Amino acid sequence: MKTTQGQYITKKFLQYTKDLTGIIQKDFPNFSKNEFMLSQITKINEEVGELSGEVLASVGYQRAEKLQKHSKDTLASEFADVFITGLLLAQTCDIDINSALEKKMKVLEQRYKI
Ligand SMILES: [Mg+2]
Repeated sequence: MKTTQGQYITKKFLQYTKDLTGIIQKDFPNFSKNEFMLSQITKINEEVGELSGEVLASVGYQRAEKLQKHSKDTLASEFADVFITGLLLAQTCDIDINSALEKKMKVLEQRYKI
């Protein structure tokens, strides 16, 4: 499979996450760009932790209280949180995520001969 140039993340979704960043930034009006980036990477780690908890629950390695709350939907929700928080930080870092994805896909194609 060869990567073709494309819009992997849609313009509509990119605009949605830019709008979301604008709203979130209003909660931290005194943050510099660097402080905002540091808060975002911390948030990604928080979300990765929550995803970890859901994965543990999916294989039964959580206490009963957490197992009762776990479902395919809660697992999916945490995947979405990790994806979105990562995209928000990428935008703050002025990363063209579609270009970055395309370049990474080409690297993976060569590495794994896909
Ligand atoms: Mg979460």
